[in-house]
Amino acid sequence: LSQLFRPLDLLGMVYRTIRQGVIDMGAMFDLIDTAPEVVDAPDAPALAVRDAHVRFEGVAFGYDAGMPILKGIDLDVPAGTTCAVVGPSGAGKSTLARLLYRFYDVDQGRITIDGQDIARVRQDTLRAAIGIVPQDTVLFNDTIGYNIAYGREGASEAEVAAAARGAAIAGFIERQPEGYRTRVGERGLKLSGGEKQRVAIARTLLKDPPLLILDEATSALDSRTEGEIMETLAAIERGRTTIVIAHRLSTIVHADQIVVLEAGRVVERGAHAELLARDGLYASMWARQAAESEEAEEAPVAVA
Ligand code: ATP
Repeated sequence: LSQLFRPLDLLGMVYRTIRQGVIDMGAMFDLIDTAPEVVDAPDAPALAVRDAHVRFEGVAFGYDAGMPILKGIDLDVPAGTTCAVVGPSGAGKSTLARLLYRFYDVDQGRITIDGQDIARVRQDTLRAAIGIVPQDTVLFNDTIGYNIAYGREGASEAEVAAAARGAAIAGFIERQPEGYRTRVGERGLKLSGGEKQRVAIARTLLKDPPLLILDEATSALDSRTEGEIMETLAAIERGRTTIVIAHRLSTIVHADQIVVLEAGRVVERGAHAELLARDGLYASMWARQAAESEEAEEAPVAVA
């Protein structure tokens, strides 16, 4: 009988893996209409991560032939540092993150982690090294505990609770009558955007990857929640090489380096103060966002 179930187990595993990909990355990568295009060489070695030093060297890429999206991108993200990627809508920020996760192979140049070309290592070992906190986390119709434990197969209850504490969502869960067994989703507890993001952070803590991709939510969280989430993210970034795709510049002021993309090219790079002093695209984006947030604060609050 066990012989009979083995293939079913395998199918289940494949299904879970695919589902994990779709559910965790869905919002960020639009996987549903993106067939996986990368294939490993039969003798591809595993990625060996030392300290997760990431480099993009002359990377060019387009989704369609003759339509380049990224052009000659050079990036150097030393081990354990944070690189924020900013720029106008459509500049190619998410594309850059997708290439690092190797949803596509580059057309020119290469991306390396600790000197190894990511196109030449096994993609499962690459993806095991990268944690993603997407813009919008999709939850399973299951318990909140299950939704967190999903970060790592076989995690114990104590590990799930520790991850929830690290993501500052343990208090909220413990206040529910059924604690970690509380169901979430369509027929269960509805979580706010901030709470869902904390679930994603807890999953990432369980996975404990050396490399992080954070895709900041575009939909505004209220400023208190945003502040709290930023603190939690700062804690998980510590000691990991991090790439943040940022929409609100206020959240990346402390990044080790900020890279400004425009139409697929790096047009400016440096720390926040350097970029302000340069008085270029970053400085104008900063001035615009500052004006917008002042307007938002002054706007009368609608009373329902
Ligand atoms: P935003 O801030 O709006 O999220 P972005 O800087 O992240 O934008 P990308 O999502 O990387 O930009 O998109 C860069 C360009 O690539 C856009 O012109 C977009 O239309 C195009 N593009 C993105 N995904 C695909 C795809 N799957 N197939 C074809 N073109 C795509």
